[in-house]
Amino acid sequence: MGFEFRHRIAFKQARTVLLISLVLGLLSTSIQIFLDLRQEKISYLAGIERVIALYKKTAERAIYNLNYVKASEITATLISHPEISEATLVDDFGDPLSHDKQEISSPNTFFYKLGNYFFQFNTHYESILKIDNSQTGAAKLIIELDSTYITHNFALRAFIGLVFGLLYNVLLACVFLFFFYRYLSRPILDIVKWVDQLNTHNNLPLPYKGRDEIGDLVASFSKLWDERRQVTDRLNNTISKLSKSKNFSRTLMENAGDAMFLCAPDGTIIDLNHQAVETLKSDKEHILGSKLSVYSQNYSENDLVDLFLSIDEKHVCTFEDIQIDMHKKVFPIEARGIRIKQNDKDYILISARDISARKESEKQIFELAFFDTLTGLANRRLFTDRLSSVITHHQVHDIHGAVLYMDLDRFKTINDSLGHSIGDKLLCAVSQRLTAIAPVGTTCARFGGDEFVILLPEIGPTVVSSAEVAVHISKKIIDAIAAPFEIEGHTLYCTISIGIAVFPEKELSAIDILRHADIALYRTKAMGKNGFQFYDPEVQSSAQERLLIEKGLHKALDKGEFQLWFQPQVKSDGSVFGAEVLLRWMHPEKGVISPDDFIQIAEESGQIIEMGQWVLNESFNQLAQWRERGFPEGCRRLAINISPLQFMQVDFVGRVLKLLTDYQIPGELIELEITENMLLNNFDIASNKMRILKQRGISFAIDDFGTGYSSLKYLRYMPLDILKIDRSFVTNLRPSSEEAAIVEVIIATADRLGLAVVAEGVETVEERDTLIELGCHRFQGYLYSKPLPAAQFYELISETRLSV
Ligand code: C2E
Ligand code: CA
Ligand code: CA
Repeated sequence: MGFEFRHRIAFKQARTVLLISLVLGLLSTSIQIFLDLRQEKISYLAGIERVIALYKKTAERAIYNLNYVKASEITATLISHPEISEATLVDDFGDPLSHDKQEISSPNTFFYKLGNYFFQFNTHYESILKIDNSQTGAAKLIIELDSTYITHNFALRAFIGLVFGLLYNVLLACVFLFFFYRYLSRPILDIVKWVDQLNTHNNLPLPYKGRDEIGDLVASFSKLWDERRQVTDRLNNTISKLSKSKNFSRTLMENAGDAMFLCAPDGTIIDLNHQAVETLKSDKEHILGSKLSVYSQNYSENDLVDLFLSIDEKHVCTFEDIQIDMHKKVFPIEARGIRIKQNDKDYILISARDISARKESEKQIFELAFFDTLTGLANRRLFTDRLSSVITHHQVHDIHGAVLYMDLDRFKTINDSLGHSIGDKLLCAVSQRLTAIAPVGTTCARFGGDEFVILLPEIGPTVVSSAEVAVHISKKIIDAIAAPFEIEGHTLYCTISIGIAVFPEKELSAIDILRHADIALYRTKAMGKNGFQFYDPEVQSSAQERLLIEKGLHKALDKGEFQLWFQPQVKSDGSVFGAEVLLRWMHPEKGVISPDDFIQIAEESGQIIEMGQWVLNESFNQLAQWRERGFPEGCRRLAINISPLQFMQVDFVGRVLKLLTDYQIPGELIELEITENMLLNNFDIASNKMRILKQRGISFAIDDFGTGYSSLKYLRYMPLDILKIDRSFVTNLRPSSEEAAIVEVIIATADRLGLAVVAEGVETVEERDTLIELGCHRFQGYLYSKPLPAAQFYELISETRLSV
């Protein structure tokens, strides 16, 4: 604590004391001198008066007697006084009797001037002398005082008084200062020095031991300091103990069986133990400083930061993760995290344990609980669980599913005759075939014995459509199981019976649905096995119907049961400009079946490809015949419906081109009708195919326009020629109706895209007139003609103009 000298208390104190004592000394001495002098002056004059009084009587007598000697004796004696410079005796006639004078010694000294300045007084004294019986006047004793002498003396004395007064004051101040310094300033300076050294030195002697206030102060300060030091010592002790315990925890960490990572809150690994290095199969230097997330499969860097934020100092946070080691090997871990604070910094301590073994046994337990040990398929419990959750989902959403309950038909015989081992192997083989057939997302289960169950969770929006899919899959299963099994040298033949329940139905539970499927299975068994039955008889009959159609379609082509019918397309003036080819199935028992009843089944079963090809062939054949007979006037184009599946066949374009060549039919005579959804799903492939065919003059119509999902904008990129407005918009079409607005938009769009518009299903004059009003001038519908067999059609259009 080095203060500048002038800032020290001692200096400030000395300066102030000196200054004040000087000023006070000066003031008090001056007052004293002033008072002194006044007194002096009075007593001085009194002295002069006394002198005069002393000689007065003698002088009166001398004058009375006219005694000159006596007179001069008096005046001489008077001037012998140093302060009297002149003495004169004047008689009562005014004549001087005697006069004496002495020379003034040093009239011009400094003190004379000073005295003269301060102490002016009267120097001329006259004393009246009484002369008996004198009538002339009064005699006088005249004295002149030596002012020089008096004032000099006065001033000298005043000066000396002043000097001594000051000297006294200063001396007194100095004595005070000395004592101040000795008893206050110096101890304070010592104390300051002592305090300065306290931080660096121990056991310093007290700087002051006096039994006074300072002594008290020093003693209590020293006591406080000692206490403080004791606290600090204790603290340091604790810290050093702590660092020892850090070593202790370090040892703990090193010897822990778990991998331990000390991380910064941002996930950076700051420290890790030997086990951690082992687990990650790397070296410590490599791992230090990297992010923990590098070794985690489930947590990204940000995930870990978030997780760490949620970890506090009091609670251990447990989480599971998949750890990745340096060789990219992954294994499940269980990790515990806790927040620790060290030197005001936050860390997260993670301990991780490989739980592969635990997971494995959990999995085993899970499999035991939920899976069939023999085949690995789901068991009844898991199946019922899944079915229940699917049912709840379906009750909310408009989706249907189905349960297929199956039973091998001759299993008991095989098992009894060939033994359980072969029986088990057969069950496994069956389960393999089942899982191979079951679509992705389905659950295959074995309920014990030879009972298998399949859950088809989402197969259609309606009962009928789901039933169709269920039939389809059931047939595949029946076929698959019918194929022989080769087991341990035995060729085994086996069939399967299936019971089907479609759900959801009237808040039925999983158990109810399984029961329904089981009942259906018994029905199948009762009806001769190796087949399927639906629980719901209605579904059963429609499924049977469908099956019949599917079966019938197979034969229909061979038996020549198909026919092409033709429906004319007409302009507003009644002239025919083309026709659409429509397929008819001339069923031997059911009569004419509309394509609406079989086209979809054919599409689902894939038969449409063959049928479509037949339609194409037959159409070209028909055109070739008509060409020979001469095309009727106006009929210059035949529109053929092409199913998406058919169109997407790799060789579709090739086949059409071949027909053009084989039959020598110009492409301009052919129009292919395709649907918008097909275009949407296969935009690139479809438009490429269309472009190739268009080069041969074939035109394209988009069928059922308005019912699909195509964006009008999308159409622009398709090489289309004609747009067919769907029948649903045309039926009951009236001006200013909602449909009219839609049709208007369709027509406007077609115009903009340069497409011709044909309205289908025109049945009334009103519909046609409205269409004309809206800008559509080409029609197809019962108003003009129903689809007709080729001969009738030829006859009809030969009239060239269809009048209404
Ligand atoms: P589509 O292509 O929309 O054919 C028009 C359907 O409307 C035809 O039914 C036709 O008979 C019917 N129709 C025409 N004018 C009227 C009318 O004024 N009123 C009413 N109510 N109906 C009318 P069809 O012949 O039963 O054909 C049904 C669907 O079957 C066709 O609809 C088409 O998508 C498909 N189809 C027909 N033949 C073939 C074919 O050879 N191949 C393919 N892939 N599909 C075909
Ligand atoms: Ca059509
Ligand atoms: Ca149509």
